[in-house]
Amino acid sequence: MEAGETVFKHPTVVRLLEACKPLWALSYARNLMSWDTATYMPPGGAAERGLASAEIMKLSRRLILDPSLEKLVEEAESRIDELNVYERGVVRVLRREIKYAKAVTDELLARMARVSSEGLQAWRSAKEKERFDVWKPWLDEVISIARELAERLGYDEHPYDALLDIFEEGLRRSYVEKVFSNLIPRLKKLVEKVLADEFYPRRHPLEGAGYEKASMEKLLRRLLTILGYDWSRGRLDESPHPFTMPIAWGDVRITVRYEGYDPRRPILGAIHEFGHALYDQQIDRRLALTPIGSAAGLGIHESQSRLWELMVGQSYWFIRAVKHLLERYVPVFRDYDWLEVYRYFNLVRPSLVRVEADELTYHMHVYLRYRIEEMMVRGEIRASDVPELWDRMMEELLGVRPRKPSEGVLQDIHWAECYVGYFPTYTLGTLLAARIFKRFTREVEDGLEKLEKLDFTVLREWLREKIHRWGSTFPPRELAEKAVGGYAEPDDFLEYAEWKYLRLPGELV
Ligand code: MG
Repeated sequence: MEAGETVFKHPTVVRLLEACKPLWALSYARNLMSWDTATYMPPGGAAERGLASAEIMKLSRRLILDPSLEKLVEEAESRIDELNVYERGVVRVLRREIKYAKAVTDELLARMARVSSEGLQAWRSAKEKERFDVWKPWLDEVISIARELAERLGYDEHPYDALLDIFEEGLRRSYVEKVFSNLIPRLKKLVEKVLADEFYPRRHPLEGAGYEKASMEKLLRRLLTILGYDWSRGRLDESPHPFTMPIAWGDVRITVRYEGYDPRRPILGAIHEFGHALYDQQIDRRLALTPIGSAAGLGIHESQSRLWELMVGQSYWFIRAVKHLLERYVPVFRDYDWLEVYRYFNLVRPSLVRVEADELTYHMHVYLRYRIEEMMVRGEIRASDVPELWDRMMEELLGVRPRKPSEGVLQDIHWAECYVGYFPTYTLGTLLAARIFKRFTREVEDGLEKLEKLDFTVLREWLREKIHRWGSTFPPRELAEKAVGGYAEPDDFLEYAEWKYLRLPGELV
């Protein structure tokens, strides 16, 4: 990129971008603060960090609701035919932000803030004490907030549409419903076959194997370098819940968690976060500092993390190719051949906890949450109905029943943080990942051969060109249609899963 080169030329958009710079700076500050909160902040800093963050949020809100900003957006909308795709993207994203800021009143904002401070504490203590009743009133409050938010945002068909749209622009309940009603029964049959076949084991001795944290970190750094993480614009740290934080174009950080046993977990966790980070690192530099300089949505973001985690990290060819590295840093891998390590990386078993689920049963966990959310938002159930419904659905879907709330309704932080409408993006992202990977192997003739030699340049560049560089110029579904001719479809994932779980074992042994 040449210095000073820009894709934004229309005078109205240029003025709009100038007006948005302080918003960008505030979000930069909040991202850096939340990264720090999750990594190195001393515990004593929590209360003031919360206050500072809330003040910054108020300031952002004031700026986004400034009538002069909306006037500029209106002016740009009235001249939309004169704008290029990037400029249109800016106008679309700002219109969304203004709409959201208007819908969330001060009163609603204060209620949401209470949920994510006091309510979150109640959730933590409820989980620790195994007592759902401690958190129950807060879940009722979360449902009530979600319903009011949906009403205020507006929707055509279903209040849940308004909430889905917050996380993945344009996503609708009817689409999610169609996906799950097709996917879940077919997946259930597949899981039964895989469990009967036993090539992919339910348990493995390596799950209990320990590792040295320092040595594991060295391994992760080697693997991230091989995959192509740009260390000059990123870093690797530790946090209780792994995440990726895009602070700015030149600063995209990831974290992992070291539990000290079950070595595949930090390895796959790091590869997952790499997929997220690569998306942010490969957004066109010319979009930095603008409202379209970040990813298009959470579903499409998850497609990137899942592609690298599942289609690369858990593949037989990747495990075979990095086996010597695994051994060097985690000596217990020397006791097993690569195929056995591959099987360990791909256990399949019905389980209770979503974040520990395999790539097949995982979607049952997501479906259950979607169904419960959708019923809550429709007003069909209250918080007190959720534990029983949860346990019953677990039994129906996976044949397992939680023994305590921490293995059931209290396991996820999402509702406790007032996120309703987020869960479906996990499944949609995975389905889209399968489509994207299939498309890559078809379009790039020697693509798979290159990957098998651990040459990831061609895959990275292909993803940059098709998806990453655009930031949020287009809404997620439009972007996916342009890039890979469609969005998240069960067929793409099932085709991949049936090949991997039913046909591949015959070729490998
Ligand atoms: Mg993720």
